[in-house]
Amino acid sequence: MKIIAIGRNYAEHAKELNNPVPIEPVIFLMPETALIRSNKPFFYPDFSNDIHYEVELVVKINKLGKNISEKFAHRYYNEIGIGIDFTARDIQAKLKEKGLPWEKAKAFDGAAPLGKFISKTELPEVNNISFSLEKNGELVQKGNSKDMIHSIDAIIAHVSQYFTLKIGDLIFTGTPAGVGPVKIGDALYAKIEGKELLKVQVK
Ligand code: ZN
Repeated sequence: MKIIAIGRNYAEHAKELNNPVPIEPVIFLMPETALIRSNKPFFYPDFSNDIHYEVELVVKINKLGKNISEKFAHRYYNEIGIGIDFTARDIQAKLKEKGLPWEKAKAFDGAAPLGKFISKTELPEVNNISFSLEKNGELVQKGNSKDMIHSIDAIIAHVSQYFTLKIGDLIFTGTPAGVGPVKIGDALYAKIEGKELLKVQVK
């Protein structure tokens, strides 16, 4: 399986990092080794001093597809979950400056804690799903899929022009505003529609 992640998909977040709002989705890939499942802890890596959380809705692909049209994209997923796209902001800043790929800042071991999934039938309409992240009991990020620059279906249509989507592939759909640093000892809780689906302890 592969993990496809979308950058800068919420205008307010692009603004907070002084990035232009993209016309086409910004895409990067993560290997399977980036995942943390079952609420296992995240171990702060030695190579960074500035790890940031980014809470994101995650789409799980349930059907093989290529060149999927936006109109039919909804047939390629049944479940939506939540994850964190941990980012080594210090490393990313250096890579961005040199115009280099982001993988070292985004795709390292444990960079992608993944929570439980919910069936679409138990959720509001796909373009109106609210989600949030709490850090040590304080609300730090709040988002809604209606504010995505590229909708879930548009992302699937775009991405599948380049990469065949396979059953079990995951798409991290971008983070809303409010990203910030974590430190050892922090606890993160991610929710969809008020339901807690992911907990990450930073160790
Ligand atoms: Zn992200």
